[in-house]
Amino acid sequence: MKVAIIGAGITGLTLAAALRRAGITCCVFERAASFRRIGAGIQLSPNAVRLLRRLGLDTELAGTAVRSDGVEVRHWKNGNVVSWIPLGDDCERLFGAPYYLMHRADLHNALVDLVPAGSVHLGSTCVEVIERDNGAQVVFADGSNITVDVVVGADGIGSTVRGSSFADEPHYSGQTVYRGLAPATAQAPFRDGERKSVIWVGEGKHVVSYPVAAGSLINIVAVTADEAWSRESWSTPARVGDARAAFAGWDTVVLDLISAADSLTKWGLHLRSGDFPWSGQFVTLAGDAAHPMLPFLAQGANQGIEDAMTLAGCLSQATFSDATLALQRYEQLRRPRVSAIQQYSAKPPTSQGTQALLDTAWIFGHDPLSEFNDG
Ligand SMILES: Cc1cc2nc3c(=O)[nH]c(=O)nc-3n(C[C@H](O)[C@H](O)[C@H](O)COP(=O)(O)OP(=O)(O)OC[C@H]3O[C@@H](n4cnc5c(N)ncnc54)[C@H](O)[C@@H]3O)c2cc1C
Repeated sequence: MKVAIIGAGITGLTLAAALRRAGITCCVFERAASFRRIGAGIQLSPNAVRLLRRLGLDTELAGTAVRSDGVEVRHWKNGNVVSWIPLGDDCERLFGAPYYLMHRADLHNALVDLVPAGSVHLGSTCVEVIERDNGAQVVFADGSNITVDVVVGADGIGSTVRGSSFADEPHYSGQTVYRGLAPATAQAPFRDGERKSVIWVGEGKHVVSYPVAAGSLINIVAVTADEAWSRESWSTPARVGDARAAFAGWDTVVLDLISAADSLTKWGLHLRSGDFPWSGQFVTLAGDAAHPMLPFLAQGANQGIEDAMTLAGCLSQATFSDATLALQRYEQLRRPRVSAIQQYSAKPPTSQGTQALLDTAWIFGHDPLSEFNDG
């Protein structure tokens, strides 16, 4: 079986690594001409960390990630600590892996190293995928094309692969996010190298901050409601003054963090309708291409990793003649879980509601590989 993966994000690269481990030939096609150190912080929960360890990523993650001791919830205005949710040793004991705080680029780099360079084709923009009688054809922007047994669209929320079969468009959720990274030096409340996430919760707004890149940088995510998103792109450079104005009157620690950011971007949070099949005969979707979600549960990339490992498991137990059944099985295994997580992800934290993080066994404890013989 030969598989083409469209998109070399976290989902696409995890899938490539998992397929390779299963002995399945695959190629990844990525529109970017090079891998740059893009993105900001990402929280990796034990459900995904356990899977990445199965792929051989252990010391690589431990070297760049910050192992979180817990989540501190603070009052938006006075900064008083409202609650503390322990992770640390409790998390490892309960779920067999740590909760990591990472720079997305560190995770991405570790995944790139798992995939042979010759199987990743940069500067390859997919413009269409066409299902044929016995496989699927991928058409690229330069006019070239390939035909393979299975195509996986791991090309993010704006997925071209999805667009080849379904006409739905991403829609704006009504919320925007300021994201940035600040040098860790002397940034309260991480001044003494504290390994934790801090969430300031206000009415209709919240701010999340945590250390990444082995503690050298502080990630800032400031979420606010905004009526319209008129830009063509998902993100745009933002001014510190605008971000500070959006959080005027908040705890001065929040405002200082915003001011300390090297640069800020503003993201319009978008969604797509969920009610459509991911899979055709020889084509399926994974990660944000299949199920974009709001970031309030920090599960988007984690679920992309679960998708990738599940899909690799299904394909590794299939022959070419039953590839379609393998894609259906993958979707049946993943859809109920992802739908539930999408629903929870849509709820912004409240000072009480954040307590629900304690009730995460169904998310952190899930093992998609238990479905397969080698799980
Ligand atoms: C503010 C914010 C905070 C977040 N925090 C977290 C968190 O803490 N934890 C978490 O798990 N998730 C988090 N997420 C979500 C997470 O970032 C995404 O769910 C995840 O990155 C999706 O990965 P992906 O590989 O599926 O898609 P993407 O990262 O979008 O990758 C898609 C890839 O496909 C490529 N591509 C696109 N179109 C084409 C084409 N036509 N041809 C070829 N290549 C193409 C793109 O260049 C890209 O490399 C957050 C999101 C936001 C906005």
